[in-house]
Amino acid sequence: MPENNFAPVCIDGSSGEGGGQVLRTSLALSCITGKSLHIENIRAARRNPGLAKQHLMCVQAACGISNGRCQGAALGSGVLDFQPGAVQSGDFLFRIGSAGSASLVIQTVLPALFFADKPSRVTVTGGTHNPLAPPFDFLCETFLPAIAAAGFQGDCRLIKHGFFPAGGGQIAFDTRPRQKVRYQIVDLCEPGREFQIDARIYTAKLPAHVARRQEKLLLQSFPEIQKVEHIEVVHSDGPGNCVMIRLCDGGTTVFTSFGMKGKPSQKVVREVVDLASDFLAGGVAVDRFLADQILVYMALSKAGRFTTNELSSHLLTNIEVIKKFLPVNFDVDRQKQIYTISCRPC
Ligand code: AMP
Repeated sequence: MPENNFAPVCIDGSSGEGGGQVLRTSLALSCITGKSLHIENIRAARRNPGLAKQHLMCVQAACGISNGRCQGAALGSGVLDFQPGAVQSGDFLFRIGSAGSASLVIQTVLPALFFADKPSRVTVTGGTHNPLAPPFDFLCETFLPAIAAAGFQGDCRLIKHGFFPAGGGQIAFDTRPRQKVRYQIVDLCEPGREFQIDARIYTAKLPAHVARRQEKLLLQSFPEIQKVEHIEVVHSDGPGNCVMIRLCDGGTTVFTSFGMKGKPSQKVVREVVDLASDFLAGGVAVDRFLADQILVYMALSKAGRFTTNELSSHLLTNIEVIKKFLPVNFDVDRQKQIYTISCRPC
């Protein structure tokens, strides 16, 4: 199928973390480099392997922005051949058709759109607040400022909330062509010193006592929280609940846990408090989720470094996928529990 003269980059989707990120990073870098992609064993390590609706949308979105072509783009498919064309800016609308994460579809096409010659808008309908994916608040307040500092600038907007499992939300992301300003790289090594700490509780179609109880538990278990904001989402297709702790010190790190039927509020609150406490105790600049998500932007700059408190399997796997497409290397240096990840050309 590939028409260009180069052999496709072959990716084993079961390697490392074996999840959707292997596919998303591969699609993103295929669009940018113009290298065709052959990927097998897609999401082999997941309970429902192969392309689910969100991943299929990622494939279709990558085709859409690059006039690309593919074989194997079907629900459940474990093998895909993708051949990108030239990436073009535009006003794109992608409807996932499930509560699949809109943020993850956006993150698939963003890197390439930053290299287009004109601004683009990407609007995605689906889930905006999903377990195991970046919720909108993280995308907007943590991820976007981190990549903006490295010259990848845009704006995002929540048009409608979409909680898992009903979905029905919408996010719009505007990109501007990358400004090549010298020395603009990811450089996030210094931990925050004085955090303003607050919490945010979202509820939709749930009894009022849920948020009241979660607020009480949050303040008991994390007394450093200075303010709790409760957002009751009226226009939601289904019930939803998430609890966030926001650490602000110039940048903002958003940690989230999700409530669901049968999950006690104690557990919801405990999860988010543990994430925030581990990060604060770690004395690092970048949380475990942002860590795996900014690697692509470091690689595109062939430079950058950050400190983090955990070497997640997402991070290690993403490094290996990136190295298949781009001539870069990542160094991992460990001093006690602080990991410094840096990127250099090779
Ligand atoms: P995958 O499991 O391979 O589909 O990748 C999931 C992606 O979602 C990774 O980039 C994670 O860092 C990201 N992610 C998962 N949970 C969160 C969270 N609570 N906040 C921010 N990002 C998240």
